[in-house]
Formats: sequence, C-alpha cells, structure tokens
Amino acid sequence: MNRIPSKIKFINPPGVNFPGGKTVHRAGWVMITPDKVIENACLEVENGLITGVYGASSGRNTHGQDTIDHGPGVIMPPLVNAHLHLELSALKNSLCFDKGFAAWVQQLLEKREAVGQAALVKGAKKAAQELFEDGIGYIGEISTLGFTRTIVQSLDLSGIWFQEFLGSALPDIGLENKNFLSFSLAGHAPHTTDPLLLQAAKKKTRTLGLPFSIHLAESDVESEFIAGKEGEWGKFLISRGIETSLWPIGSKTPVQYLDDLGVLDSSTLAVHLLNTVPLDLDILARTNTKVCLCPRSNMNLHKKLPDISKMLEKKLAPALGTDSLASCDSLGIFDEMAFVRRNYPNVNPVQVLSMATINGAKALGIEHFAGTLEKGKKSAFIYVDLNIGNKSNIIESLTTHEI
Ligand SMILES: [Zn+2]
Repeated sequence: MNRIPSKIKFINPPGVNFPGGKTVHRAGWVMITPDKVIENACLEVENGLITGVYGASSGRNTHGQDTIDHGPGVIMPPLVNAHLHLELSALKNSLCFDKGFAAWVQQLLEKREAVGQAALVKGAKKAAQELFEDGIGYIGEISTLGFTRTIVQSLDLSGIWFQEFLGSALPDIGLENKNFLSFSLAGHAPHTTDPLLLQAAKKKTRTLGLPFSIHLAESDVESEFIAGKEGEWGKFLISRGIETSLWPIGSKTPVQYLDDLGVLDSSTLAVHLLNTVPLDLDILARTNTKVCLCPRSNMNLHKKLPDISKMLEKKLAPALGTDSLASCDSLGIFDEMAFVRRNYPNVNPVQVLSMATINGAKALGIEHFAGTLEKGKKSAFIYVDLNIGNKSNIIESLTTHEI
C-alpha cells in the first residue's frame, strides 16, 4: 500500500483556538468541498476562522506579498475518522481473522489482557500521533477502558470521545459538550447491552445535545439473537447469568429493534450496517440516523461489505471509519478511501471524498466548524503536495493513493 503521509502537511491542529490576525494561504488548488475545487486559489483566515476563498479567475491577485504559498498541491479540509478505537492499537498484526468473528473477539479480549495497560497506552499514543500524519484532524474515538481521553485531549484532536459501555451499568463519567472536543457515550451493540441501558444513555446524551454512537447490524450472531432465534449468543448470555427474557427481541432486525427502542435519531451514529434489509435503510433515512462504515474492517472480520450504493440512493450520506488496528491495518482515511474505490467502482469519487470529510463531520455533529473550507468554519486545514493540472485527476489521486 502506498502511504502518502510524507506529502501531507497539517496547517493548524483542529483542537485549539488560533491567534488572531489575517493570513492568506495559497496553493495550486483549494478544495472548499469535494465538488467545489478552485484552481490557483487563496484561503483567507482571521481569528481562527475562514473568512474567504478566491481563485485567480476572480481577478484578484493570488500571489500577494504576505501570502503564504504552499505549492502546486491542494489545500483541503482535514479528514474525519468517524469510528476508531485507539486503545486497541497495541494489538496491531497480532490477531487472526480466519477463524470467524467470535474467535476474533475471544482473541481480542485475551490479548488485550496479556499485553497490559502500559503497552496499550503506548500503542494508543503512537497511533494518535500518526493520525495527524495521515491528515486526520477529527475523530469519533470509542473507548471502553477510558484511558484515551487524555491522549486525545493532549494532542489537540477534535471531534467526539465516546465512553463505550456494555452489560447493564452506565459509566459514571463527566460528559461535556465543548467547542472542539466533546465527551459522550456509546453503546456497544444491540445484543451486548441491556435495552433499558441503551435507552437511558440515549436520553442522557440527547438532553446534553451530544451524539450517541453504537455498532449496529455488524455480525450474524447479533442478527440471529435480535430475530429471537435460539443461537450461540443467547446461550452465552444465559451462561453469564444475564437475564434477557424481558428484552423486546424477536422477529426483527437490529435496526428495527433500535428503532422500536426509540434510540435512532439525527444524533445517533450507527456504525457498520453490514446486515440490513431494504426496510432498515428506510428506517435510517426516516429517522435521519447518521451512518459510519468501516469496509476494511468488515472485509477482514466478516468477509463482506456494506451496500454503499443503496445507502447513497437513500440519501444516507455515510461517513468513513477504520475501526481499530486489531481489525484493520491502518487508521488512515486515505487508505479507507482507496479501499472503497477499489471495491466500489460505481461510487463516484466525489462521493468518496465527501464520506471522508463533510459526511464524517455531520456524523459527529461538528459540521458547523468542520468538514469543508467554507467561510465561517474553523481555519484548520491540510496541504497535500501533488503536482496535477486537472481537477478530476486531483480527486482521482486523493481517493486512490496515486500521489
Ligand atoms: Zn468499532
């Protein structure tokens, strides 16, 4: 895989306030949005906000004396990884995918225990630092153990840090709705978490105006259990003494189940959606639920992929995530885009770039300051060093790694 970080320069980390003063940044191209890319253009910023974008075609001088000229490449929004688990980074390349999902989960729990806290912290710090090198400034970090909260804060990353919960007790942590980095809750999945707990967590995050995230419709085991079939998962829960006789499961899909629980709305981020029927996509569209896909992780763990074309048809605007380094070989969104291009030849590359930027920002509820370089948004951006003279070739290169 051709990694491109050496060609990426981060201009202003997105998690901090910038000093005031007007600055003008020029490049061969400025990508305001994936479908609005301007040649020989300048981005004006002041007091930490974008105040304007203009190209030479407007008649204005793009080579002013105080202009910072970055080169022939592209100034574009930082990418969004809307679903990752930094705390599993130390497990990179140590798990086997060939024996199925249940065996992978078992290995994950054993190896996480065996590796120990110090190695997990070290791995998470290194992976978090590499996000900047991959052009990622905004994240939806899912944490079960809790220690990545301070790591994310210390690196000036922006987005949402989610405390994930399983079983039957809500974590007692401070939730805050901050400007650039918020702290919220994530349910693990419909088949692993008590429905009353999912409802309580959703209510809490809704009251605070925070997004709520959950893995949804990922595994066959989950679908079987929610459909009410006596399967391995039901037996497992009984063996753990978990009482599920009052759970409102049976004759429904995981998406329909969460809809019945009242958990789906415009601030819920549903992750994966591998096992869906057409009605599920209609429910997600009707409730305006946000969607995040992790196709590389899905292929490794489940040997199948979500139906992106159908989702786009239903106007679901999926975001991209990577899941963790325990199920994917990088946390890079350029890598994820390249995988999508290879496996979904019919999806328009402009759509793929939208998935990596504005769709991700909407998925995390931060589109008011992130996801595009439109006037009024935060002046965090990246410069990708490439030398290409035509707009569609730029989009092609950015989404296929050929730079
Ligand atoms: Zn995940």
